[in-house]
Amino acid sequence: MNRFDYVKPASLTEAIAAASAPGSAYLASGTNLLDLMKGDVVRPARLVDISRLPELNRIERLANGDVRIGALVRNADLAYDPDFAKDFPAVAEALLSGASAQLRNAATVGGNLLQRTRCAYFYDTASACNKRTPGSGCDAREGENSQHAVLGWSDSCIATHPSDFCVPLAAFDAMVEIEGKGGRREVALEALHLLPGTTPEKETLLEPGEMIVAVRLPAAVRSFAPHARYLKVRERTSYAFAVVSAAAGLKIESGIITEARLALGGVAAKPWRPRAAETLLVGQAADASSYQRAADVALADARPSGDNAYKIPLARNIIVRALHLAALGTPDRMPALPASPFSSPTGALHDA
Ligand code: SF4
Repeated sequence: MNRFDYVKPASLTEAIAAASAPGSAYLASGTNLLDLMKGDVVRPARLVDISRLPELNRIERLANGDVRIGALVRNADLAYDPDFAKDFPAVAEALLSGASAQLRNAATVGGNLLQRTRCAYFYDTASACNKRTPGSGCDAREGENSQHAVLGWSDSCIATHPSDFCVPLAAFDAMVEIEGKGGRREVALEALHLLPGTTPEKETLLEPGEMIVAVRLPAAVRSFAPHARYLKVRERTSYAFAVVSAAAGLKIESGIITEARLALGGVAAKPWRPRAAETLLVGQAADASSYQRAADVALADARPSGDNAYKIPLARNIIVRALHLAALGTPDRMPALPASPFSSPTGALHDA
């Protein structure tokens, strides 16, 4: 274990000042960071423990109807907040499909956004990894890469972003509030994560010392609640990251789609929002042929980065299925297996 400083600031201002020292990292629940430190994958010189800052632990309904979620709200607390789950069912479904119950009880909203890739070579310090050690190479390119990206990847890095939560956040126009020494700013969740290009070590547009303080969902996207789903395919039914996932939201009048939201997970270094597919759906009948055309558009630029060509037809099928489920209507209660293709639209287990 490397030596590091540990500080526990009493306020947000103190925390940001403490994290301005080079090599600092914020510590919330540490469900990803502490594993990375134990594995010697990251070596922060200073941990700034923000886990007890009360102002970051609130779910607020703002005067304009937006919902503001503090960065320290636990994943489980948000998913089980009855008002939140009613207004943003696909977000709740994504949260409950991620990790395990124990991890969801600990993991925070801000930490979920900033979790690192699950590329095995990133975690193996004996492997070459441009993300961990810039310029060292990428052992995934010729290695076990069946889970890697099919969109937005580069020769430098083919890793994916592992979050479920971020996928519907991208689809439903979430904003991220960021605080740093220069003050507060906000960015669209869709813009927070960066594609690898030639600098895969730079994963988000956060500057050193900046902290995510909240995520905001706009009031307007509540209107998708009657037709909103998240669907996730994983290698085992529980406690696994998405091979491919999709968040879908529709507004439908007399069988015609009047507005659409769509985002994919497990396919790129960021949640992938195919806006051209959303545009194509508007004015179309809510039926399988429209969903298939949208899926073709969404994946027009997809190409394998290794042994993962299967992900492209899988993503196509997941898009079609997620749109179909959304059109059928959001279940009154969370499915028995949230976000799983093995639960029925009404929440029952198939063949149960
Ligand atoms: Fe590292 Fe990215 Fe290559 Fe994985 S895919 S080894 S994270 S550079």
